[in-house]
Amino acid sequence: MVALLVSDIHGNLPAFEAVLAAAPQYDVVWNLGDIVGYGANPNEVVQLARNLGKIVVRGNHDRACSSGTIPDFSPLAAYAARWTQEVLTKENQLWLSKLRRGGLRPLGSRVLCVHGMPNYEDEYLTHKGRAQSALKASRAWITFFGHTHFQEGWISDKQEITLLRPNFPSTDGPVRFEVALSPNCRYVINPGSVGQPRDGDWRAAFAIFDDVQSKLTWHRVPYKVLTAQRRIRRAGLPPYLADRLRIGR
Ligand code: ZN
Repeated sequence: MVALLVSDIHGNLPAFEAVLAAAPQYDVVWNLGDIVGYGANPNEVVQLARNLGKIVVRGNHDRACSSGTIPDFSPLAAYAARWTQEVLTKENQLWLSKLRRGGLRPLGSRVLCVHGMPNYEDEYLTHKGRAQSALKASRAWITFFGHTHFQEGWISDKQEITLLRPNFPSTDGPVRFEVALSPNCRYVINPGSVGQPRDGDWRAAFAIFDDVQSKLTWHRVPYKVLTAQRRIRRAGLPPYLADRLRIGR
């Protein structure tokens, strides 16, 4: 079984389309949430995500954009969430509002899919201490998470927990980085953000998990970032949401 892992698409249709076009063959899609918010094409992105299967974890932006209230967001995020609420069709809003809060187990006890931390979708898995807590709460062999918009993970071999990051051969073009997964270790892994990377690399991020070969491959793929930026500006969304896409921050 081969799974395509996507997370934090954030309404960025050109990035999502580039990922789907570049992804090697897969059997299932595991979506770790934040399908909408920030980007200018929430309806198109939701429609695509809906057609790709049932393993979809709710992100904090999905929750905010499909409910009447905006939580404790930054002013930028709150503005974008209100804009998204207004443009989402009733049907797409309803679909988003019914997404389940994290903790999906698409392979029984082996894999856990969450948005933020296993117990709380709004919390960020950003450092070793959080990785340790996540490993404790999850108990799965691999926990896939999103929310931070960083393509990285941690490996635990019982002795210690080590940061795992892809080392790509170039900063342009499509690239990949493979990680052999050991049955004797446990992992927390973020496929990276499709639509708003914040790890300094503007290219759309995703990952492929091969359960038979016990292998994870992190990918980056260029996309039509100028189109995504133009749509954000034309929609009247804050210009910074367009500017940040080109720098990947
Ligand atoms: Zn996000």
